[in-house]
Amino acid sequence: MRFAQLESGTVRLVDVPEPHAGPGELVVRMAACGVCGTDLEKLKGNYRASSILGHEPVGLVSEVGSGVSGYETGDRVFVHHHVPCGACAVCVRGDPTFCPTYATTNLDPGGFSESFRVSARHVKAGAVLRLAPGISWDEGSLLEPAGCVVTALHRVGFSPGTSVFVYGLGPAGLLYARLARAMGATWVGGAELSPRRRAVAESGGIDAVVDPRDPQGVSSVVENATEGRGVDLAVVATSAPAAIQGALEIVRRAGTVNLFGVPATGSRLDYDLLQLYLRGIRIVPTYATTEPDIREVHAQVAARRLRLADLVSERFPLSDIASAFARARDADSSVKVVVTGPAY
Ligand SMILES: [Zn+2]
Ligand SMILES: [Zn+2]
Repeated sequence: MRFAQLESGTVRLVDVPEPHAGPGELVVRMAACGVCGTDLEKLKGNYRASSILGHEPVGLVSEVGSGVSGYETGDRVFVHHHVPCGACAVCVRGDPTFCPTYATTNLDPGGFSESFRVSARHVKAGAVLRLAPGISWDEGSLLEPAGCVVTALHRVGFSPGTSVFVYGLGPAGLLYARLARAMGATWVGGAELSPRRRAVAESGGIDAVVDPRDPQGVSSVVENATEGRGVDLAVVATSAPAAIQGALEIVRRAGTVNLFGVPATGSRLDYDLLQLYLRGIRIVPTYATTEPDIREVHAQVAARRLRLADLVSERFPLSDIASAFARARDADSSVKVVVTGPAY
């Protein structure tokens, strides 16, 4: 079968043996898998947490290993690629995405594959979620990135009535804006370079969308919306270092800056620490997501309280994955790009 792997800065299709399900395991035939910003960063060599590409897959269960209950061949499922150990001090304290084991777990050989094996550890940890009948493959492929937003909102202590500003309205930032709104934000603004993505943001219920190259634009919309106080929550959903500087400027006293996008390797924060101290700003980095948060998003989409599918702007078959990556890199022409597999 064919599998797309990272090979010296490009994505290459290779032939690998079909996976089989051992005891406690499943094999899933891929239907769709989104191209994530972190996949693009891996190609640039920026983000080396893992060299495996593709972590937003949905598909059909094609093999059920001995001892697995609750799944049958033909089940439509989403599979989460990372699972925490559940036993270390970090997990026990309630921060499973920062568990040292978490990012070392993965699908075999990865999400951009005709089929992949799901380990017994993943199955046991609840990483395989049966999709509700009304949930499309496109929607299913957005569950992981949307789950990352829910995890971030929980970690920053989000509550209804919050004002939010999002730097970077790529797929992750757009999902953030939508989920903040769905969970009760009173005002959501955002900044984005790409006119195409600004237009999508405006159609998705964001109150104000501005071009970040106009710094007056950002500060004046925030001032108007918050009577000069600044936003409760400023979100950095881009790797651009200028965005975190901007976020620190527009957040209110004792407000929160959520470092949500993957920063470039080696990037530094240059900020007046006395200002940070006197204004009481919290900087909260958040990373990845958990099974309960993915289930929360799934329930919202199944109940039609959250619209996701319109964020998928293009689909490319696995055989043309190079075009999928090229399109995903081009922010002026794409929003969310999805790679489709044999089960689509
Ligand atoms: Zn992702
Ligand atoms: Zn752990």
